[in-house]
Amino acid sequence: MLDVVDIGKRSLATYRGIAPDEILDELHWLSEDLRGARCMHLSSTPYGGGVSEILRSLVPLYNDLGIVTDWKLIHGDDTFFQVTKRIHNGLQGAPGELTEREKATYLANAQLNAHRLVTNSENYDFVFVHDPQPAVLAALSPHLDARWIWRCHIDTSHPNPTFWDFLSPYLHAYDAAIFTMREFIPPQLPISDVRIYPPAIDPLSPKNHPLPEALARDVLEWIGIRTHRPLVTQVSRFDRWKDPLGVVRAYQRVRPHVPDLQLALAGSLAMDDPEGWDVYEELRAATAGDSLIHILTNLVGVGNIEVNALQAVSDVVVQKSLREGFGLVVAETLWKSTPVVGGRVGGIPMQLPEGTGGALVDTVEECAEAMLHLLRRPDEAHLLGARGHEHVRQHLLMPRLLVDHLRLLKHLAA
Ligand code: UDP
Repeated sequence: MLDVVDIGKRSLATYRGIAPDEILDELHWLSEDLRGARCMHLSSTPYGGGVSEILRSLVPLYNDLGIVTDWKLIHGDDTFFQVTKRIHNGLQGAPGELTEREKATYLANAQLNAHRLVTNSENYDFVFVHDPQPAVLAALSPHLDARWIWRCHIDTSHPNPTFWDFLSPYLHAYDAAIFTMREFIPPQLPISDVRIYPPAIDPLSPKNHPLPEALARDVLEWIGIRTHRPLVTQVSRFDRWKDPLGVVRAYQRVRPHVPDLQLALAGSLAMDDPEGWDVYEELRAATAGDSLIHILTNLVGVGNIEVNALQAVSDVVVQKSLREGFGLVVAETLWKSTPVVGGRVGGIPMQLPEGTGGALVDTVEECAEAMLHLLRRPDEAHLLGARGHEHVRQHLLMPRLLVDHLRLLKHLAA
């Protein structure tokens, strides 16, 4: 049996006055023909990273609309997740080869998961498979009479051929695929119905719900941050693509100009991300002895409320990624009207259009300059943040993503 993730109950009515009315209205008529349909979302981890963040909000909203929806998890041990992390990196273009042994580990695990899927699959009408970890399951489960959708959240525009040639033959079993950007569609994708849907954030989740300012400051004081001093933050899994060491170098360039500037690097260590530990240790070593740098993790209790407070109280939030699927943290931060300095990669530019939300950068030097610019000009920073908030409200809130999904389901059901 696959594990079912416990999800909460949410009502779309509570988004009235927050998300645009026309989107909420559309959801009601779109869902009419889909009521009673059964849907499953399949992923590899219940916490850590953007996919789990989205599903935790999205799945209850499906249910609120009468589409009976489960979120299930594939099983895997450390060896399996080491291979899937290599596949994830390879699909994002990292060099290297996938060994025969790694392929065998991946496929043996996938067969076990396909078996588990069959033993508790209650006739789903639609199955969404998220990311590469469970991607081969559609091909390994031909007896499940569902419409299969592969939701690829990462940048697969230039995959390392070794990895792509291994995975792509298994993808023909899908009825549709979803990518964040057209540019991410990999070469010779064997799925003809391809949709472009950017992800979204939940304005009512504990991470994004407005916190009273005094509470937000208290929360940060509690974890060792001095809120009367300026603060720059990056919130990300400890992953080399997120370039946390680059953020430290940019911060070190700014520090002589703003001597009491603090840097917070908050990172979660996820179950399907064994590499995170190495990056975390490197970061600790690189920043040892600097009391103005705070390395914070979920393991010491930095959860949704702390991330919320960091994004709300920081003077500037950085997301200096080198590769990025979307970067939900950018939208989360803009939702709190805080300006963002973001790497010009993947889905970050679409969240920071010209004159909105902050600045795009390509290098450590540009990152430092943009941080300093915003720290010295709080009025400009404030204006950019306010425009960023409105951009998120119009385009990047969860009800919009639900509209996209329901349109696809209606099309596939026809
Ligand atoms: N996140 C978190 N705590 C952390 C680091 C990340 O809650 O210490 C969350 C973050 O707020 C965001 C998600 O994990 O909701 C990361 O999503 P994103 O799209 O930015 O990156 P991904 O991890 O999917 O590459």
